[in-house]
Amino acid sequence: MSGLDEKLHDIHEEVLRRNPGEIEFHQAVHEVLDSLGPVVAKHPQYADEAVIRRLCEPERQIIFRVPWVDDNGQVQINRGFRVEFNSALGPYKGGLRFHPTVYLGIVKFLGFEQIFKNSLTGLPIGGGKGGSDFDPKGRSDGEVMRFCQAFMTELYRHIGEYTDVPAGDIGVGGREIGYLFGQYKRITNRYESGVLTGKGLTWGGSQVRTEATGYGTVFFTHEILKSRGESFDGKRVVVSGSGNVAVYAIEKIHELGGTVIACSDSSGYIVDDKGIDLDLLKDVKLHRRARITEYAEQRGTAHYVAGGTVWEVPCDIALPCATQNELNGHDAVTLARGGCTIVAEGANMPCTPEAVKLFAESGVTFAPGKAANAGGVATSALEMQQNASRDSWSFGHTEERLAEIMRNIHSRCVETAEDYGQPGNYTAGANIAGFIQVADAMLALGVI
Ligand code: NDP
Repeated sequence: MSGLDEKLHDIHEEVLRRNPGEIEFHQAVHEVLDSLGPVVAKHPQYADEAVIRRLCEPERQIIFRVPWVDDNGQVQINRGFRVEFNSALGPYKGGLRFHPTVYLGIVKFLGFEQIFKNSLTGLPIGGGKGGSDFDPKGRSDGEVMRFCQAFMTELYRHIGEYTDVPAGDIGVGGREIGYLFGQYKRITNRYESGVLTGKGLTWGGSQVRTEATGYGTVFFTHEILKSRGESFDGKRVVVSGSGNVAVYAIEKIHELGGTVIACSDSSGYIVDDKGIDLDLLKDVKLHRRARITEYAEQRGTAHYVAGGTVWEVPCDIALPCATQNELNGHDAVTLARGGCTIVAEGANMPCTPEAVKLFAESGVTFAPGKAANAGGVATSALEMQQNASRDSWSFGHTEERLAEIMRNIHSRCVETAEDYGQPGNYTAGANIAGFIQVADAMLALGVI
Protein backbone atom coordinates (compact mmCIF):
# COMPACT_ATOMS: atom_id res chain seq x y z
CA MET A 1 0.00 0.00 0.00
CA SER A 2 1.37 3.44 -0.88
CA GLY A 3 0.30 6.64 -2.59
CA LEU A 4 0.24 8.70 0.63
CA ASP A 5 1.94 12.09 0.87
CA GLU A 6 5.18 12.20 2.88
CA LYS A 7 3.87 13.09 6.37
CA LEU A 8 0.98 10.64 6.10
CA HIS A 9 3.27 7.96 4.70
CA ASP A 10 5.50 8.27 7.79
CA ILE A 11 2.47 7.96 10.07
CA HIS A 12 1.33 4.86 8.21
CA GLU A 13 4.80 3.30 8.48
CA GLU A 14 4.74 3.93 12.21
CA VAL A 15 1.32 2.23 12.50
CA LEU A 16 2.65 -0.82 10.63
CA ARG A 17 5.74 -0.99 12.86
CA ARG A 18 3.87 -0.57 16.15
CA ASN A 19 1.04 -2.98 15.31
CA PRO A 20 2.65 -5.97 13.56
CA GLY A 21 0.38 -8.54 11.93
CA GLU A 22 -2.84 -6.53 12.41
CA ILE A 23 -3.68 -6.41 8.72
CA GLU A 24 -7.31 -5.27 8.99
CA PHE A 25 -6.23 -2.40 11.25
CA HIS A 26 -3.50 -1.41 8.75
CA GLN A 27 -6.10 -1.45 5.96
CA ALA A 28 -8.57 0.72 7.89
CA VAL A 29 -5.87 3.28 8.80
CA HIS A 30 -4.58 3.44 5.23
CA GLU A 31 -8.08 4.03 3.90
CA VAL A 32 -8.52 7.08 6.15
CA LEU A 33 -5.00 8.49 5.66
CA ASP A 34 -5.48 8.17 1.91
CA SER A 35 -8.25 10.81 2.13
CA LEU A 36 -6.41 13.23 4.42
CA GLY A 37 -3.74 14.62 2.03
CA PRO A 38 -5.79 17.72 1.07
CA VAL A 39 -6.79 18.29 4.72
CA VAL A 40 -3.21 18.32 5.98
CA ALA A 41 -2.22 20.61 3.08
CA LYS A 42 -4.95 23.09 4.06
CA HIS A 43 -4.62 22.73 7.86
CA PRO A 44 -1.01 21.80 8.75
CA GLN A 45 -1.82 22.05 12.50
CA TYR A 46 -3.37 18.55 12.41
CA ALA A 47 -0.02 17.04 11.45
CA ASP A 48 2.09 19.44 13.52
CA GLU A 49 0.25 18.72 16.77
CA ALA A 50 0.38 14.97 16.18
CA VAL A 51 -3.41 14.75 16.04
CA ILE A 52 -3.35 12.04 13.38
CA ARG A 53 -0.62 10.06 15.17
CA ARG A 54 -2.56 10.27 18.41
CA LEU A 55 -5.74 9.18 16.63
CA CYS A 56 -4.00 6.01 15.41
CA GLU A 57 -3.09 4.95 18.94
CA PRO A 58 -6.02 3.71 21.09
CA GLU A 59 -6.48 5.50 24.40
CA ARG A 60 -6.78 2.14 26.16
CA GLN A 61 -6.72 -1.56 25.13
CA ILE A 62 -8.05 -4.23 27.45
CA ILE A 63 -7.47 -7.97 26.88
CA PHE A 64 -8.81 -10.51 29.35
CA ARG A 65 -9.40 -14.19 30.03
CA VAL A 66 -13.00 -15.45 29.84
CA PRO A 67 -13.31 -18.83 31.61
CA TRP A 68 -16.72 -20.57 31.55
CA VAL A 69 -18.19 -24.07 31.88
CA ASP A 70 -19.91 -25.77 28.90
CA ASP A 71 -22.88 -28.15 29.00
CA ASN A 72 -20.55 -31.14 29.43
CA GLY A 73 -18.98 -29.65 32.54
CA GLN A 74 -15.75 -28.80 30.67
CA VAL A 75 -13.97 -25.52 31.38
CA GLN A 76 -13.62 -23.41 28.22
CA ILE A 77 -11.27 -20.43 27.88
CA ASN A 78 -11.88 -17.57 25.49
CA ARG A 79 -10.19 -14.22 25.07
CA GLY A 80 -12.09 -10.95 25.58
CA PHE A 81 -11.20 -7.52 24.15
CA ARG A 82 -12.30 -3.94 24.56
CA VAL A 83 -10.43 -1.23 22.70
CA GLU A 84 -11.34 2.25 23.93
CA PHE A 85 -10.06 4.18 20.94
CA ASN A 86 -11.03 7.81 21.22
CA SER A 87 -13.21 9.79 23.64
CA ALA A 88 -12.76 13.34 22.32
CA LEU A 89 -16.44 13.63 21.36
CA GLY A 90 -18.09 11.56 24.11
CA PRO A 91 -17.98 8.21 25.91
CA TYR A 92 -16.50 5.34 23.89
CA LYS A 93 -19.28 3.76 21.84
CA GLY A 94 -19.22 0.68 19.63
CA GLY A 95 -20.36 -2.93 19.50
CA LEU A 96 -19.13 -6.27 20.76
CA ARG A 97 -18.42 -9.04 18.23
CA PHE A 98 -18.48 -12.73 19.17
CA HIS A 99 -16.91 -14.72 16.33
CA PRO A 100 -14.01 -17.21 16.16
CA THR A 101 -12.00 -14.88 13.89
CA VAL A 102 -11.89 -12.06 16.48
CA TYR A 103 -8.39 -10.95 17.51
CA LEU A 104 -6.86 -7.61 18.43
CA GLY A 105 -6.38 -6.51 14.78
CA ILE A 106 -10.11 -6.93 14.00
CA VAL A 107 -11.19 -5.10 17.16
CA LYS A 108 -8.78 -2.25 16.39
CA PHE A 109 -9.93 -1.87 12.79
CA LEU A 110 -13.55 -1.73 13.95
CA GLY A 111 -12.75 0.68 16.79
CA PHE A 112 -10.78 2.98 14.48
CA GLU A 113 -13.61 3.12 11.90
CA GLN A 114 -16.06 3.75 14.72
CA ILE A 115 -14.35 7.04 15.66
CA PHE A 116 -15.14 8.62 12.28
CA LYS A 117 -18.55 7.00 11.93
CA ASN A 118 -19.66 8.25 15.32
CA SER A 119 -18.35 11.71 14.54
CA LEU A 120 -20.37 11.76 11.29
CA THR A 121 -23.62 11.14 13.16
CA GLY A 122 -23.18 14.55 14.80
CA LEU A 123 -24.03 12.97 18.18
CA PRO A 124 -21.78 13.13 21.29
CA ILE A 125 -20.13 9.70 21.11
CA GLY A 126 -16.49 8.61 20.97
CA GLY A 127 -15.23 5.41 19.33
CA GLY A 128 -14.55 1.93 20.73
CA LYS A 129 -15.14 -1.73 19.96
CA GLY A 130 -14.81 -5.09 21.66
CA GLY A 131 -15.60 -8.75 21.47
CA SER A 132 -14.30 -12.25 21.86
CA ASP A 133 -13.17 -15.27 19.85
CA PHE A 134 -16.16 -17.16 21.34
CA ASP A 135 -18.31 -18.86 18.66
CA PRO A 136 -22.02 -18.82 19.62
CA LYS A 137 -22.89 -21.08 16.67
CA GLY A 138 -24.06 -24.50 17.92
CA ARG A 139 -23.95 -23.41 21.59
CA SER A 140 -27.02 -23.85 23.81
CA ASP A 141 -28.77 -20.86 25.39
CA GLY A 142 -27.30 -21.86 28.75
CA GLU A 143 -23.77 -21.88 27.34
CA VAL A 144 -24.27 -18.47 25.70
CA MET A 145 -25.60 -17.10 29.01
CA ARG A 146 -22.67 -18.47 31.05
CA PHE A 147 -20.20 -17.11 28.51
CA CYS A 148 -21.85 -13.64 28.57
CA GLN A 149 -21.82 -13.63 32.38
CA ALA A 150 -18.11 -14.55 32.46
CA PHE A 151 -17.34 -11.89 29.83
CA MET A 152 -19.17 -9.17 31.79
CA THR A 153 -17.56 -10.24 35.08
CA GLU A 154 -14.37 -8.62 33.78
CA LEU A 155 -15.78 -6.01 31.39
CA TYR A 156 -18.07 -4.32 33.95
CA ARG A 157 -15.18 -2.51 35.66
CA HIS A 158 -14.23 -0.73 32.41
CA ILE A 159 -17.65 0.48 31.20
CA GLY A 160 -20.37 2.90 32.34
CA GLU A 161 -22.88 5.35 30.89
CA TYR A 162 -20.31 8.20 30.98
CA THR A 163 -17.29 6.02 30.19
CA ASP A 164 -17.88 3.34 27.59
CA VAL A 165 -21.19 2.04 26.21
CA PRO A 166 -21.02 -1.26 24.25
CA ALA A 167 -23.72 -2.62 21.90
CA GLY A 168 -24.12 -5.60 19.53
CA ASP A 169 -22.31 -6.65 16.36
CA ILE A 170 -21.75 -10.02 14.64
CA GLY A 171 -22.87 -12.79 17.02
CA VAL A 172 -24.23 -10.33 19.60
CA GLY A 173 -27.95 -9.54 19.35
CA GLY A 174 -30.81 -9.00 21.79
CA ARG A 175 -30.28 -12.32 23.60
CA GLU A 176 -26.61 -11.63 24.36
CA ILE A 177 -27.22 -7.98 25.34
CA GLY A 178 -29.84 -9.27 27.81
CA TYR A 179 -27.41 -11.68 29.50
CA LEU A 180 -24.67 -9.03 29.55
CA PHE A 181 -26.96 -6.38 31.04
CA GLY A 182 -28.30 -8.85 33.63
CA GLN A 183 -24.80 -9.64 34.84
CA TYR A 184 -23.78 -5.95 34.91
CA LYS A 185 -26.86 -5.17 37.02
CA ARG A 186 -26.13 -8.06 39.37
CA ILE A 187 -22.48 -7.14 39.94
CA THR A 188 -22.94 -3.39 40.33
CA ASN A 189 -26.36 -3.42 42.03
CA ARG A 190 -27.36 -0.56 39.71
CA TYR A 191 -30.07 -0.41 37.05
CA GLU A 192 -27.86 1.70 34.80
CA SER A 193 -29.78 1.51 31.51
CA GLY A 194 -27.32 3.75 29.65
CA VAL A 195 -24.41 1.30 30.04
CA LEU A 196 -25.41 -0.87 27.06
CA THR A 197 -27.53 -0.25 23.96
CA GLY A 198 -29.57 -2.71 21.91
CA LYS A 199 -31.63 -3.59 24.99
CA GLY A 200 -35.11 -5.13 24.83
CA LEU A 201 -38.06 -2.75 24.57
CA THR A 202 -39.43 -3.62 28.02
CA TRP A 203 -36.12 -2.98 29.83
CA GLY A 204 -34.75 0.28 28.49
CA GLY A 205 -34.28 -0.40 24.78
CA SER A 206 -35.23 1.94 21.95
CA GLN A 207 -37.72 1.38 19.18
CA VAL A 208 -35.96 0.95 15.79
CA ARG A 209 -32.55 0.01 17.28
CA THR A 210 -32.85 -3.57 15.97
CA GLU A 211 -33.76 -2.34 12.50
CA ALA A 212 -31.55 0.76 12.49
CA THR A 213 -28.36 -0.34 10.73
CA GLY A 214 -30.19 -2.02 7.85
CA TYR A 215 -32.81 0.72 7.56
CA GLY A 216 -30.13 3.42 7.77
CA THR A 217 -28.10 1.85 4.96
CA VAL A 218 -31.20 1.85 2.78
CA PHE A 219 -32.04 5.47 3.70
CA PHE A 220 -28.50 6.47 2.69
CA THR A 221 -28.82 4.58 -0.62
CA HIS A 222 -32.18 6.27 -1.17
CA GLU A 223 -30.45 9.66 -0.84
CA ILE A 224 -27.95 8.64 -3.54
CA LEU A 225 -30.83 7.57 -5.79
CA LYS A 226 -32.70 10.83 -5.11
CA SER A 227 -29.63 12.86 -6.06
CA ARG A 228 -29.88 11.20 -9.51
CA GLY A 229 -33.63 11.77 -9.75
CA GLU A 230 -34.29 8.05 -9.18
CA SER A 231 -35.88 5.83 -6.51
CA PHE A 232 -35.87 2.18 -5.42
CA ASP A 233 -38.94 1.54 -7.59
CA GLY A 234 -38.29 -1.43 -9.85
CA LYS A 235 -34.64 -1.80 -8.76
CA ARG A 236 -33.18 -5.29 -8.34
CA VAL A 237 -30.96 -5.48 -5.29
CA VAL A 238 -28.51 -8.07 -3.98
CA VAL A 239 -27.71 -8.13 -0.25
CA SER A 240 -25.01 -10.28 1.33
CA GLY A 241 -25.49 -11.90 4.73
CA SER A 242 -28.80 -12.74 6.38
CA GLY A 243 -28.18 -11.46 9.91
CA ASN A 244 -29.44 -8.37 11.68
CA VAL A 245 -28.20 -5.79 9.18
CA ALA A 246 -29.11 -7.75 6.03
CA VAL A 247 -32.63 -8.70 7.12
CA TYR A 248 -33.71 -5.16 8.00
CA ALA A 249 -32.06 -3.74 4.89
CA ILE A 250 -34.20 -6.17 2.86
CA GLU A 251 -37.32 -5.14 4.80
CA LYS A 252 -36.84 -1.44 4.04
CA ILE A 253 -35.91 -1.99 0.37
CA HIS A 254 -39.18 -3.86 -0.14
CA GLU A 255 -41.10 -1.09 1.62
CA LEU A 256 -39.53 1.45 -0.75
CA GLY A 257 -40.45 -0.50 -3.89
CA GLY A 258 -37.21 -2.37 -4.67
CA THR A 259 -36.86 -6.16 -4.95
CA VAL A 260 -34.11 -8.11 -3.20
CA ILE A 261 -33.39 -11.14 -5.36
CA ALA A 262 -30.46 -12.72 -3.48
CA CYS A 263 -28.84 -12.94 -0.06
CA SER A 264 -26.34 -15.25 1.66
CA ASP A 265 -24.81 -16.72 4.79
CA SER A 266 -21.30 -18.01 5.42
CA SER A 267 -21.98 -21.28 3.55
CA GLY A 268 -23.61 -20.07 0.32
CA TYR A 269 -26.32 -17.92 -1.21
CA ILE A 270 -29.93 -18.09 -2.37
CA VAL A 271 -31.51 -16.54 -5.45
CA ASP A 272 -35.23 -15.82 -5.44
CA ASP A 273 -36.34 -13.94 -8.55
CA LYS A 274 -39.79 -13.27 -7.09
CA GLY A 275 -38.16 -11.35 -4.22
CA ILE A 276 -37.01 -12.64 -0.84
CA ASP A 277 -39.88 -13.81 1.41
CA LEU A 278 -38.93 -11.84 4.51
CA ASP A 279 -41.09 -13.75 7.01
CA LEU A 280 -39.50 -17.02 5.92
CA LEU A 281 -35.98 -15.54 6.02
CA LYS A 282 -36.55 -14.11 9.52
CA ASP A 283 -37.89 -17.43 10.72
CA VAL A 284 -34.93 -19.43 9.33
CA LYS A 285 -32.06 -17.06 10.19
CA LEU A 286 -33.16 -14.85 13.09
CA HIS A 287 -35.61 -17.02 15.04
CA ARG A 288 -34.31 -20.56 14.47
CA ARG A 289 -30.64 -19.65 13.81
CA ALA A 290 -30.63 -22.28 11.01
CA ARG A 291 -28.76 -22.39 7.68
CA ILE A 292 -29.99 -20.48 4.65
CA THR A 293 -30.36 -23.77 2.69
CA GLU A 294 -33.60 -24.24 4.62
CA TYR A 295 -35.02 -21.13 2.93
CA ALA A 296 -34.50 -22.69 -0.51
CA GLU A 297 -35.96 -25.99 0.68
CA GLN A 298 -39.18 -24.28 1.77
CA ARG A 299 -39.63 -21.83 -1.11
CA GLY A 300 -40.31 -23.14 -4.60
CA THR A 301 -39.17 -19.99 -6.44
CA ALA A 302 -35.71 -20.02 -4.82
CA HIS A 303 -32.54 -21.99 -5.42
CA TYR A 304 -29.43 -22.37 -3.29
CA VAL A 305 -25.85 -22.06 -4.51
CA ALA A 306 -23.24 -23.64 -2.24
CA GLY A 307 -20.01 -21.65 -1.89
CA GLY A 308 -19.47 -19.13 -4.72
CA THR A 309 -20.25 -15.48 -4.18
CA VAL A 310 -23.57 -13.70 -4.17
CA TRP A 311 -22.00 -10.95 -6.31
CA GLU A 312 -22.36 -13.26 -9.33
CA VAL A 313 -26.08 -12.36 -9.40
CA PRO A 314 -26.67 -9.39 -11.77
CA CYS A 315 -28.36 -6.42 -10.05
CA ASP A 316 -28.82 -2.64 -10.07
CA ILE A 317 -27.70 -2.10 -6.46
CA ALA A 318 -25.48 -4.19 -4.15
CA LEU A 319 -25.44 -3.91 -0.35
CA PRO A 320 -22.67 -5.95 1.33
CA CYS A 321 -24.03 -6.59 4.84
CA ALA A 322 -22.03 -9.60 6.12
CA THR A 323 -18.38 -9.07 7.05
CA GLN A 324 -15.04 -7.42 6.23
CA ASN A 325 -13.32 -8.01 2.87
CA GLU A 326 -16.18 -10.11 1.49
CA LEU A 327 -16.23 -8.28 -1.87
CA ASN A 328 -12.95 -8.27 -3.83
CA GLY A 329 -11.68 -6.80 -7.11
CA HIS A 330 -13.02 -9.70 -9.16
CA ASP A 331 -16.47 -9.28 -7.59
CA ALA A 332 -16.36 -5.53 -8.30
CA VAL A 333 -15.74 -6.17 -12.00
CA THR A 334 -18.52 -8.80 -12.08
CA LEU A 335 -20.98 -6.41 -10.44
CA ALA A 336 -20.17 -3.53 -12.81
CA ARG A 337 -20.52 -5.81 -15.84
CA GLY A 338 -23.87 -7.04 -14.51
CA GLY A 339 -25.24 -3.48 -14.50
CA CYS A 340 -24.75 -2.52 -10.85
CA THR A 341 -24.40 1.25 -10.40
CA ILE A 342 -24.47 1.67 -6.58
CA VAL A 343 -22.66 -0.24 -3.82
CA ALA A 344 -23.39 0.85 -0.23
CA GLU A 345 -21.71 -0.90 2.70
CA GLY A 346 -24.05 -2.14 5.43
CA ALA A 347 -21.16 -4.13 6.94
CA ASN A 348 -17.86 -2.66 8.15
CA MET A 349 -15.16 -2.59 5.44
CA PRO A 350 -16.73 -5.38 3.33
CA CYS A 351 -15.10 -4.10 0.10
CA THR A 352 -11.38 -4.58 -0.40
CA PRO A 353 -9.28 -1.53 -1.43
CA GLU A 354 -8.94 -3.02 -4.92
CA ALA A 355 -12.74 -3.32 -5.22
CA VAL A 356 -13.19 0.31 -4.17
CA LYS A 357 -10.64 1.44 -6.77
CA LEU A 358 -12.36 -0.58 -9.50
CA PHE A 359 -15.77 0.86 -8.58
CA ALA A 360 -14.36 4.36 -9.11
CA GLU A 361 -12.84 3.36 -12.46
CA SER A 362 -16.07 1.81 -13.71
CA GLY A 363 -18.37 4.63 -12.60
CA VAL A 364 -20.09 2.68 -9.79
CA THR A 365 -21.08 4.98 -6.90
CA PHE A 366 -19.55 3.63 -3.70
CA ALA A 367 -20.76 4.54 -0.18
CA PRO A 368 -18.39 3.48 2.64
CA GLY A 369 -19.72 1.79 5.79
CA LYS A 370 -18.68 4.58 8.12
CA ALA A 371 -21.33 6.74 6.44
CA ALA A 372 -23.83 4.22 5.08
CA ASN A 373 -24.13 2.00 8.17
CA ALA A 374 -23.94 4.76 10.80
CA GLY A 375 -27.68 4.45 11.48
CA GLY A 376 -27.12 1.67 14.01
CA VAL A 377 -24.83 3.62 16.28
CA ALA A 378 -26.87 6.79 15.76
CA THR A 379 -29.96 5.01 17.08
CA SER A 380 -27.89 3.65 19.96
CA ALA A 381 -27.13 7.27 20.82
CA LEU A 382 -30.88 7.97 20.66
CA GLU A 383 -31.36 5.05 23.05
CA MET A 384 -28.83 6.70 25.42
CA GLN A 385 -30.79 9.97 25.18
CA GLN A 386 -34.03 8.19 26.10
CA ASN A 387 -32.32 6.37 28.99
CA ALA A 388 -30.87 9.63 30.33
CA SER A 389 -34.28 11.34 30.29
CA ARG A 390 -36.18 8.17 31.36
CA ASP A 391 -38.22 8.58 28.21
CA SER A 392 -39.46 6.23 25.52
CA TRP A 393 -40.19 7.43 21.99
CA SER A 394 -42.60 5.91 19.46
CA PHE A 395 -41.43 3.84 16.48
CA GLY A 396 -42.49 6.54 14.01
CA HIS A 397 -40.71 9.35 15.85
CA THR A 398 -37.50 7.34 16.26
CA GLU A 399 -37.50 6.22 12.63
CA GLU A 400 -37.94 9.82 11.48
CA ARG A 401 -34.96 10.88 13.66
CA LEU A 402 -32.91 8.07 12.06
CA ALA A 403 -33.95 9.10 8.54
CA GLU A 404 -33.02 12.72 9.30
CA ILE A 405 -29.59 11.70 10.64
CA MET A 406 -28.92 9.63 7.49
CA ARG A 407 -29.96 12.57 5.27
CA ASN A 408 -27.57 14.83 7.20
CA ILE A 409 -24.69 12.35 6.93
CA HIS A 410 -25.33 12.10 3.20
CA SER A 411 -25.25 15.86 2.70
CA ARG A 412 -22.16 16.28 4.88
CA CYS A 413 -20.33 13.69 2.74
CA VAL A 414 -21.42 15.33 -0.51
CA GLU A 415 -20.57 18.88 0.62
CA THR A 416 -17.22 17.96 2.16
CA ALA A 417 -16.15 16.00 -0.93
CA GLU A 418 -16.99 19.08 -3.04
CA ASP A 419 -15.15 21.44 -0.66
CA TYR A 420 -12.01 19.34 -1.02
CA GLY A 421 -12.23 19.07 -4.82
CA GLN A 422 -13.52 15.50 -5.08
CA PRO A 423 -17.20 15.74 -6.00
CA GLY A 424 -19.06 12.42 -5.85
CA ASN A 425 -16.36 10.75 -3.74
CA TYR A 426 -18.28 9.55 -0.66
CA THR A 427 -15.17 7.94 0.86
CA ALA A 428 -13.27 11.24 0.85
CA GLY A 429 -16.34 13.12 2.11
CA ALA A 430 -16.96 10.71 4.99
CA ASN A 431 -13.33 10.43 6.06
CA ILE A 432 -12.64 14.17 5.93
CA ALA A 433 -15.90 15.29 7.60
CA GLY A 434 -15.56 12.62 10.32
CA PHE A 435 -11.90 13.46 10.88
CA ILE A 436 -12.21 17.25 11.13
CA GLN A 437 -14.81 17.13 13.89
CA VAL A 438 -12.75 14.75 16.04
CA ALA A 439 -9.48 16.52 15.27
CA ASP A 440 -10.86 19.91 16.31
CA ALA A 441 -12.14 18.47 19.59
CA MET A 442 -8.73 16.87 20.24
CA LEU A 443 -6.97 20.19 19.61
CA ALA A 444 -9.35 21.95 22.00
CA LEU A 445 -8.81 19.38 24.77
CA GLY A 446 -5.02 19.67 24.70
CA VAL A 447 -2.41 16.91 24.64
CA ILE A 448 -4.11 14.17 26.67
P1 NDP B 1 -25.05 -11.00 12.41
O1 NDP B 1 -24.24 -11.89 13.25
O2 NDP B 1 -26.47 -10.73 12.77
O3 NDP B 1 -25.07 -11.52 10.90
C1 NDP B 1 -23.89 -11.72 10.15
C2 NDP B 1 -24.30 -12.32 8.83
O4 NDP B 1 -23.18 -12.36 7.97
C3 NDP B 1 -24.77 -13.77 8.97
O5 NDP B 1 -25.75 -14.01 7.99
C4 NDP B 1 -23.50 -14.56 8.68
O6 NDP B 1 -23.74 -15.89 8.19
C5 NDP B 1 -22.94 -13.71 7.56
N1 NDP B 1 -21.52 -13.93 7.40
C6 NDP B 1 -20.56 -13.87 8.35
N2 NDP B 1 -19.37 -14.13 7.80
C7 NDP B 1 -19.62 -14.35 6.48
C8 NDP B 1 -18.80 -14.65 5.36
N3 NDP B 1 -17.48 -14.80 5.51
N4 NDP B 1 -19.38 -14.78 4.15
C9 NDP B 1 -20.73 -14.62 3.99
N5 NDP B 1 -21.54 -14.35 5.02
C10 NDP B 1 -20.98 -14.21 6.23
O7 NDP B 1 -24.23 -9.62 12.31
P2 NDP B 1 -24.75 -8.18 11.91
O8 NDP B 1 -25.80 -8.29 10.87
O9 NDP B 1 -25.04 -7.44 13.16
O10 NDP B 1 -23.42 -7.53 11.30
C11 NDP B 1 -23.08 -7.65 9.93
C12 NDP B 1 -22.06 -6.58 9.56
O11 NDP B 1 -22.60 -5.27 9.83
C13 NDP B 1 -20.74 -6.65 10.32
O12 NDP B 1 -19.70 -6.20 9.47
C14 NDP B 1 -20.94 -5.61 11.43
O13 NDP B 1 -19.71 -5.11 11.91
C15 NDP B 1 -21.71 -4.55 10.66
N6 NDP B 1 -22.47 -3.62 11.49
C16 NDP B 1 -23.41 -4.07 12.37
C17 NDP B 1 -24.12 -3.17 13.12
C18 NDP B 1 -25.25 -3.59 14.01
O14 NDP B 1 -25.96 -2.72 14.52
N7 NDP B 1 -25.48 -4.88 14.22
C19 NDP B 1 -23.82 -1.71 13.09
C20 NDP B 1 -22.89 -1.34 12.04
C21 NDP B 1 -22.22 -2.27 11.31
P3 NDP B 1 -23.85 -17.13 9.23
O15 NDP B 1 -25.27 -17.10 9.70
O16 NDP B 1 -23.49 -18.28 8.39
O17 NDP B 1 -22.84 -16.87 10.32
